[in-house]
Formats: sequence, structure tokens, C-alpha cells
Amino acid sequence: MLRSLFVDLNSYFASVEQQLDPMLRGRPIAVVPVMADTTCAIAASYEAKRFGVTTGTIIADAKRMCPDLVLVQAQHGAYIDYHHRIVEAVESVIHVKAVKSIDEMVCELTGSAQQEARARAIAEDVRATIATKVGECLRCSIGIAPNDYLAKTASDMQKPNGLVVIHQEDLPQVLHKLELRDLNGIGKKMHQRLYRKGIFSVEQLCASTKEALRDVWGGIEGERFWMSLRGEQVERGPTTKTTVGHSHVLEPALRSIEGSSAVLHRLLQKAAMRLRQYELATANIAVSVRSTSGSRWKADVNITPTQDTMQLTQVLQRMIEARTDIGTIPMKVSISLNHLSPIDAIPVPMFENTGPSRQPLNDALDKLNKKYGKNTLYVGSAHDGRNSAPMRIAFTHIPDLETDED
Ligand SMILES: [Mg+2]
Repeated sequence: MLRSLFVDLNSYFASVEQQLDPMLRGRPIAVVPVMADTTCAIAASYEAKRFGVTTGTIIADAKRMCPDLVLVQAQHGAYIDYHHRIVEAVESVIHVKAVKSIDEMVCELTGSAQQEARARAIAEDVRATIATKVGECLRCSIGIAPNDYLAKTASDMQKPNGLVVIHQEDLPQVLHKLELRDLNGIGKKMHQRLYRKGIFSVEQLCASTKEALRDVWGGIEGERFWMSLRGEQVERGPTTKTTVGHSHVLEPALRSIEGSSAVLHRLLQKAAMRLRQYELATANIAVSVRSTSGSRWKADVNITPTQDTMQLTQVLQRMIEARTDIGTIPMKVSISLNHLSPIDAIPVPMFENTGPSRQPLNDALDKLNKKYGKNTLYVGSAHDGRNSAPMRIAFTHIPDLETDED
């Protein structure tokens, strides 16, 4: 039975740029975080991909591969704006069950839509509606399958403008032509683990027992993976989470702009740690400070999806610098991270930080906090968000009075 329809925009950032500027259409373009030869492309148009330029290609190399390459500076606000318009367009055809990342969403097929001809017609309608309501440059690949996992897999099998249907009876043979790394959920580390267990191909993976995969994954995730490969719809608990938040009633000593800002930073770092635990990224930070007189300062900012503490800290710092409640006495602070999506669904190098990955740093923060108590270590709130100076880490302890708010 076909239960899932997965929409994946093709070369999303580059397509938005081509939509915004007709001069860029039909040309090889690379979207970059900064205009420098040392940076890497965070997206490439299909015209550039034909020359081998792809996400992650260093610009100096990309220019050698494709001398006519046009560099375009990323406009994250536009990508988020188009994202909302695309979701709305798809929603006008079929209900969007979940947004998986800035350029991916999944819809549930019910009733007659579970028949192939009807499902294909819906897919064509989705494609046409995006083109007419949002823009002709925004193309997508669509996968239809018995579950969300395989529908996503199907959407990856034909690009651009693909439409691939995986039927229950095609399983598992239809997957055999894929490489292990083509499968969502098999990253570099998992790939190595599979090799160590003697699983070198998707065919071998599909032939493995539930117990064997449980052993490879080290737990229930392996069993879920086994079921996903067989077309069963596996609901993952944490990904249904839509927000992570904390609030804190300030003790008298912290009832100042500085004190309340420091607590906001700490709550943010705690929330970011939970995001990473759940393997989620956030696309929105909302903060609120209530004063002793009952007035409130509120702000919220949309961001490119991330789970990185430093990146979130910089955004929060900018929000705090624009506080308009100066002169009041803060009493309670709250923060929430919203618009969550699974981290494995997000194109990896889409962030502005082009330096070395902060993953090890985030891992270290989490490990120490888990071992020594959750407030052992946090990023100093004095960190200046506007420069890239090495971060300072402050050891501190603030009594724990906050409550979880999700
Ligand atoms: Mg995509």
C-alpha cells in the first residue's frame, strides 16, 4: 500500500536565486556564504552540477572545473521565505504531515490516493502548483512509497524533476542498486560499523535479521531501520517534538538586564543540548522576559536550521543587544526553540560557519554536562557574537529553578 509522498526540492538555494534573478537562469551558479575563493559552495545549480560542482566544493576548485561559474551570496531570509510559500503551495494540494527540512516535506496518502494512478496525479499537481504559485525555477523530486523512509529514498533516486514509486512488492530488490551511503541514516560512522559486521552492500543489509541490525545500531534504532526497509511505517518518538523550551524565575540577585541575559544564555545552552540529544535542529528562537510590574519583552527570530550552541548563542546575543525592556526589573525569563526538524534531514554545510566543524565542541559540552551535572560548563555569555574570537568557556553555577515547558 502506498502511504507516503515525499517532496524534495532540487538544488533548492540555487533555484531560489534563479527564481529571484532571471539573469541567473540557465547558468551555472554556486551559492556561497561569503565571496571568497577559500569558501565552499553551499549549493550549486544543475547547470553547475554538470561540471562536477556540488555542495561542499571549494570555490577555487569550482572555478577551475567551471570557468563560467557565477557566485551568488546566500540570502538565508529568502530561502526561509520561499520555504513557507512552498509548504503553502503543497498544502493547497495535499496536507503536509511534516516539514523535514528547509527543502523537504512529507505528506500522507489516504483513501483513493493510495492507488498509484491517483498518487502520481497528486505528485504532478504538487509540482505544477509549486511552479505556478511560487515560481517556475523551483523544481522538485517526489518519492511515493509504503512509508516515509522509503518515500524519501525514492525522492533521491531521480533528480532533477524525478517521480519514483516504490511498491511493497518491489522490496527489497528495488533498493539493491543503491550504495549503503545512499540510504538516509547511514552516515560515515554507521557505514564503518556495517563494514565491521560484514555488511558491505544494501542487498546484504536487506537480508540481515532484525537482531543483526539491532546489534549494529546498538539498540532499538536498528530494529526500526529493519522495519523501515520492509515498508513498515515506523513513528519515531522524538521527531514529533515541535519545541524545546525552558523558563526560569530569577532570584533577586539576578533581577537585572545583565543577570537575566546571562540566565537566558544558560537556558539556551541547556535547550541546545536537548536538541542534540533528540538529533533535532531548530529554525526559530523565541525569548521572553517578564518584569516585576508584569510587562513583557518578547522577541523571536527565524534562522537557518541548526543545533550548534555557538551559532545559537550569537543569534541570542544579537536579540539581547536589541532588548527594549531597559529600566524594568526582570523577574522571569523564558526561551523556546521552535520549528524543529531532524538533523539528518538537513543539508549539512548550509550554515555560515565555514570553519572547522563545531560538532566535537558540542559533543564535549554535552559529555561534560552529563557527567558533572547539567550546569557544569557553558559558553560564556560575555562572548561577543559579532567576531569570531575563540569562544570562552565559563564555569559557573546558578541554582536551578526553571521548569521545562514542552
Ligand atoms: Mg533537496
